[in-house]
Amino acid sequence: MKLPVFKQMHYVSPSSFNSHQSCEFLTYLARLAGYKEFLQDKQGIAAAIGTAFDLFIKDKIERELSLPRNPELNLAYMLKTRIDEEHREVAEKTGRKIAKAYIACGLLEPILKFRGDVHVDVELRTIHLGVPIFGILDLALDDLPLDWKTRGFSKSSAYPKKGWVKRWDWDLETGSLKNRDENPKPDKYHLEKVNPIWAIQMLFYNWCLGRKQKHYVLEEICHHNDIISFARHEGSISEEFETSISEKLVVMWDNITGQMYYAEIEEPSPSKWTCEKFGFICKAAHLCKYYENTLGREDRRGDYE
Ligand code: SF4
Repeated sequence: MKLPVFKQMHYVSPSSFNSHQSCEFLTYLARLAGYKEFLQDKQGIAAAIGTAFDLFIKDKIERELSLPRNPELNLAYMLKTRIDEEHREVAEKTGRKIAKAYIACGLLEPILKFRGDVHVDVELRTIHLGVPIFGILDLALDDLPLDWKTRGFSKSSAYPKKGWVKRWDWDLETGSLKNRDENPKPDKYHLEKVNPIWAIQMLFYNWCLGRKQKHYVLEEICHHNDIISFARHEGSISEEFETSISEKLVVMWDNITGQMYYAEIEEPSPSKWTCEKFGFICKAAHLCKYYENTLGREDRRGDYE
């Protein structure tokens, strides 16, 4: 369907690409029709802890390597502005503990000893196949992207995803650290087989960094039972996956910017997975007649499970 554009998109980020893949109509409302409030979900405790961990580790890297930084954007200021007040106390306490355990595992050491250029919170931009793209990367070691993922810190637990090459388990009760190194099997799993959303994000970074081989390092920090696991994933992304994402990106950009005042938006097909992800109803549901006429109708909820 053709819908009027009130505010044009200037670039595509991994999150806008993924949200477009999941529901074009929601992307339209949030990014082309001016409903900015639909852009971000409320920060949950898991995201707050992940942010606190990130900030402690990045601060440590910047201090140890004497990286240039804006003195106004110091750790205290970042913790205050990046974490919602309702979670700040718990997130700071837990994030600090996890950061200490991460350092105790020796995971920070290779970063601090890296001989090339280390950049923290890198803003990346490029034009990929005619599409302007943008992303903010946790860490670049020369041109190798490294990202941290924290999972399992809310109600449900999370175990490291398959394919990790190194892993440490930290027992919260006893404080013991167990090294569970497995033989690295590079490329046994391409990243898209581990998690396609992560693979899309890493593809964007690789494109921006101009890498021919699409490589990555991802470190997962997962909470399960009374254990926190640190799992390192390294490897590549397949050419087939890259081609299919490139094609989708070009079509998305053409549909959004190809006409002067209108965007071509696919009519949504509401489902529990897209509209009620993780038990939260889409923020735009009250403006969405597609939801209202289907899932939103009490008598028809079972049809869309
Ligand atoms: S309610 Fe569902 S179909 Fe409607 S905008 Fe949100 S995600 Fe899309």
